[in-house]
Amino acid sequence: MNSGRDGVATSKKRVVCPRCHYPEKQCICHLVVSISGDTTVWIIQDKLEAKHAKNSARLFKLCYANTNVVAFSDSSAMQCFYEQVDVDAAVLLYPSDTATAIEVLDEDKAKQIRHVILLDGTWPKAKKMFLTDNRLKRFKTVNFAAPPMSHYEIRKSPNAKALSTLEAAAYCLEALGSLQMSNVRNFFSEVIELQWQLQPDSHKHRTSKEIKSG
Ligand SMILES: [Zn+2]
Repeated sequence: MNSGRDGVATSKKRVVCPRCHYPEKQCICHLVVSISGDTTVWIIQDKLEAKHAKNSARLFKLCYANTNVVAFSDSSAMQCFYEQVDVDAAVLLYPSDTATAIEVLDEDKAKQIRHVILLDGTWPKAKKMFLTDNRLKRFKTVNFAAPPMSHYEIRKSPNAKALSTLEAAAYCLEALGSLQMSNVRNFFSEVIELQWQLQPDSHKHRTSKEIKSG
């Protein structure tokens, strides 16, 4: 898919909304809900994931302004990320051998968490990021004991268990105890529904794949 930059026509016919980055005719800004919180969400993004016009990290950031998306391939941005995040007040969502279920984190520990870090990309890419940058191993890792079913996967891909980045980030913030994110999940469902409706039948299979990967 030909994704464009802010407000710039990617072709003579297609103009992209500067806020949501969707083609103007598919703008989702009217659906966006706004949730504010003190915990900063860091989404470390694989190069290929960033190119997806519809990646769900971007959708999450629209709803939760305290989100930073960092390109893994950008070494200075990564350096800046490490400088800003206090290791003792951060958790990294990654299923390492020593990961703790986020749902059962000690309540006092959960209250200290100010930074939630997610690796955004396919599972092999996320694993590669974790294994190639030793600095990521400083963080306490968490996983999900009982993640909710993905709304999107239920509908489009019943065999896949992975949550989208948006759903995973929302679940982390809820598990840490301070926020209720059902509006964000509803927003995601509405976006998917809208995209689905706007696609001609011949494109629906391809669109399903594009959204799923985010
Ligand atoms: Zn828009």
